[in-house]
Amino acid sequence: MRGITVLGSTGSVGQSTLDLISRSPSEWRVEALTANRDALGLAAQAKAVGARRAVVADESAYAALRDALAGTGIEAAAGTAALCEAARADVDVVMAAIVGYAGLAPTLAAVEQGRTVAIANKETLVCAGDLVTATAARTGATLLPVDSEHNAIWQCFDFARPERVSRVILTASGGPFRTASDAEMRVATVAQACKHPVWSMGAKISVDSATLMNKGLELIEAHHLFPVRADQLEVLVHPQSVVHSLVEYIDGSVLAQLGTPDMRTPIAYTLAWPERMATPCARLDLASIGSLTFEAPDFARFPALGLAWDALRAGGSSPCILNAANEVAVAAFIAGQLSFLDIAAIVGETLDRVTAQACRSLDEVVAVDEAARAAAREAMGSRLH
Ligand code: NAD
Ligand code: MG
Repeated sequence: MRGITVLGSTGSVGQSTLDLISRSPSEWRVEALTANRDALGLAAQAKAVGARRAVVADESAYAALRDALAGTGIEAAAGTAALCEAARADVDVVMAAIVGYAGLAPTLAAVEQGRTVAIANKETLVCAGDLVTATAARTGATLLPVDSEHNAIWQCFDFARPERVSRVILTASGGPFRTASDAEMRVATVAQACKHPVWSMGAKISVDSATLMNKGLELIEAHHLFPVRADQLEVLVHPQSVVHSLVEYIDGSVLAQLGTPDMRTPIAYTLAWPERMATPCARLDLASIGSLTFEAPDFARFPALGLAWDALRAGGSSPCILNAANEVAVAAFIAGQLSFLDIAAIVGETLDRVTAQACRSLDEVVAVDEAARAAAREAMGSRLH
């Protein structure tokens, strides 16, 4: 039996993870499941998979969780400290699937413990990639990329001879506004932005996919996960999302990983690694798809992508500032207070306002994140409606 903890089990990636392990219950021991505040949803999951404990981040949801789990023997807990304690527990794999900066502390707690961490929570690597990878190197923790592009690159990358890799090409679906005009994007609604043409995901990453900030965050993520320089990374728009990313070698060979767009495939690769496991995912039928298309990204219509490139090249705390401003702006957009095109504008202004510095300790990351959030809120001021 293999032990697993799923951080963010009630989300899109979390549910897909539980779907996979529920198919072979005799092989898995579920140590902990966590959620933000959906106590009932979390309790139902914990009962279904026989988890040892369930943790809500929001303490106001504790009573509901405790009551829902009464008599089951499943431990209930709440708060950030309990979340980090759950992340530290002895398991074979920790699935880090909390969305956003909130995932940093618990993910880092698992890495500090030297765990094998399947990392979906890309914002953790964007805000604190140097800290997380240095900590992993010190503790012996292993980071397994869940994000479909990074999972594809991982499957194609020759880690023994990285100098033979010349380029790493991340594919992007282009999101719901791939062919939209500026005028259409100016009045884009939350529902339109979240209606991804290919993938079904949480709200925040769906909006990031619509601005292409998601691909920008993924460039930064790739830089931390693979031994490649920023100038070896490229983005290629591929609307069908069948080719999940590509690795080019110095002899001109290009290796790619393909599959139907179902997160359970990359999740399964991390859960079974170094083995493989069967999944119920639809099989790729290229004859019926007929053609795969590719195009260059449009940096003019999607300025978030350029901002992320600049932050990656600038290094230091720039990616953390970028991420914090984006989280604040996306939350305001989802709340109906900010227009779609203002998301990238706020991120750009925040990067101009906050001075970049080093980001080597958690304290430094927290300070930069707080300063960037404050600056982003100030920048939003008059634009809020
Ligand atoms: P989601 O919104 O569906 O779920 C997020 C999970 O995090 C939920 O369990 C929620 O309860 C929990 N959570 C939210 N705020 C929290 C907080 N403040 N404290 C503690 N827990 C909190 O998100 P998702 O789409 O599953 O994405 C999760 C992560 O995986 C993101 O970083 C995303 O970028 C990444 N990712 C997702 C997909 C996908 O297909 N959904 C693909 C690639 C990468
Ligand atoms: Mg992705």
